[in-house]
Amino acid sequence: MNRPPKVAVLGSTGSIGRSALEVLQSQSDGFELTCMSCHQQIELFEKQCLEHRPALAIVTDEFNPLTRQWLAAPDSKSMRRAAGSEALIQSISGPDVDIVIAAIVGVAGLESSLAAVQNGKRLALANKESLVVAGQLLLSSAKESRAEIIPVDSEHCAIFQALQCDRPGAIESNRWEDQGTSSRANPGQSAQRIILTASGGPLRDWPLEDLEKATIQDALAHPTWSMGRKITVDSATMMNKALEVIEAHWLFGLEAERIQVVIHPQSIIHSMVEFNDGSVIAQLSPPDMRLPIQYALTYPKRTMGPAKRMDWNLSQTLSWYPVDPERYPALALGFEVVQRGGTCGAVLNAANEAAVELFLSGHIRLTDIAKICRSVLQHHNFAPTPNLNELLEQDRWARHEVMRWNRSLC
Ligand code: NAD
Ligand code: MG
Repeated sequence: MNRPPKVAVLGSTGSIGRSALEVLQSQSDGFELTCMSCHQQIELFEKQCLEHRPALAIVTDEFNPLTRQWLAAPDSKSMRRAAGSEALIQSISGPDVDIVIAAIVGVAGLESSLAAVQNGKRLALANKESLVVAGQLLLSSAKESRAEIIPVDSEHCAIFQALQCDRPGAIESNRWEDQGTSSRANPGQSAQRIILTASGGPLRDWPLEDLEKATIQDALAHPTWSMGRKITVDSATMMNKALEVIEAHWLFGLEAERIQVVIHPQSIIHSMVEFNDGSVIAQLSPPDMRLPIQYALTYPKRTMGPAKRMDWNLSQTLSWYPVDPERYPALALGFEVVQRGGTCGAVLNAANEAAVELFLSGHIRLTDIAKICRSVLQHHNFAPTPNLNELLEQDRWARHEVMRWNRSLC
């Protein structure tokens, strides 16, 4: 390709979306921003559009009266306005997008992730929920169209980088090997296991008996990362790591026994790969999502960028310790989903999204989230090889069950 790749940033008003725009600005010779989307926060979006000048700006929440007002503003010469998710899918699928930065939160990001891989684009994937819900579908579509899925999640980016140590010469020519039915970064025979690090979240050191009293503010006070509200609550319950276990299973083709989670409070080691000779390769950097976003854009190259650097003149202690399952009951659900497969990912994800919303609106306790998710997962009508419609049907069912659970409490 002798022109700069064209990039779409989906969810540009969010935490990852805003970081992605900073990265693109710092790499403006290397990439062309052609499309941006948001759902709400139109005022911020308009400011972003004025600053970054994409050829196409899309607000996906088409029924919002504010969206209609925004749409009515005249198109400038350099920027067209559109509304609705159909416009987004059309843009991603067309020739004006080569790389999709998927930074929408929740299952709402699935359709656009699927469109990106079905059309052979590079999917820079922050939206882990896409893989959790429909990992098999995404991978088989990527294989068919020769699309690339490059992880943006910091842990998976770390593993993706560490795995390359074992594959000299193979990185450029054969990075998404055909393996059975799916297209994925091959961990090879010599990678024994991966070790995902978790910060432990803001309640890591609370007495166990106090956890049920945690307020919304307590759960949102993350010690090392600044992120959107949903993922921050997921970090407090460690559901985020459960989702990441499932994400790693799909991205790297690893079974549950080869995935381990440790608490690493400093969030400097982003994850590790242990090889068969006992070597452990880790990726380290200050907690800053601009680095994995940039790597997903520039891979297999590395370039200078805005991400924070380690200060080697400062003393720093790195520590890790095992996860206490009593403190973080949500984590086991991720391993269960990897083992059972089928519809389990869609059900766990939907139950969690609905339960997090209930927590954030003051209806349930933080500690109820894992309990609700376990119960909904246990009672669902399992199917081993669901298609997209069946997955979405299970998603709806699970959300409905969570609401029923909540009503039964009132
Ligand atoms: P956020 O809440 O800050 O932003 C979400 C974005 O999605 C916003 O732009 C919003 O307009 C858009 N959006 C919300 N609902 C939508 C809908 N129904 N349709 C279309 N767009 C919609 O979230 P975030 O923290 O940036 O996280 C985004 C994704 O990245 C999540 O899947 C999260 O798990 C993942 N991720 C985030 C981080 C982080 O540091 N924030 C790290 C790793 C992975
Ligand atoms: Mg992560």
